[in-house]
Amino acid sequence: MGLKRVFRRCKHSTLADTSGSYTVVAARIRAAETSRCPECEAERALGHDVPRFVPLWDEEGRAVEADHIRRRVLRQACVLVVHAPQDELPLYDRLIERIRSLGDVEWWLDHRDDALVYLAHTIQPGLY
Ligand SMILES: [Zn+2]
Repeated sequence: MGLKRVFRRCKHSTLADTSGSYTVVAARIRAAETSRCPECEAERALGHDVPRFVPLWDEEGRAVEADHIRRRVLRQACVLVVHAPQDELPLYDRLIERIRSLGDVEWWLDHRDDALVYLAHTIQPGLY
């Protein structure tokens, strides 16, 4: 099975499966190019017209790796929100905002293992 990197309408990238007939693959790629990623769809559903999940730009391999790290951290933060005490929710809201708006590829690659702890600390020491 082959994979091709495709840039979505929101400028975030995704991998399209290139197995199958030309027609099927072309339709699949076209569908990816004309749609937004799940994160951006969710943002639109929440009423944020300007995407807060900023795309990452760099050499392709590095941007993809950084995007991967950021999505993982974003998922971890979303899990924390579910278990957070009510009074800490505004802090987590700011934490998620920071994760979404941090578009520095170098930063994400440097902080692949401690991004969540580091960012949480900048919001409030001891938050996570
Ligand atoms: Zn997107």
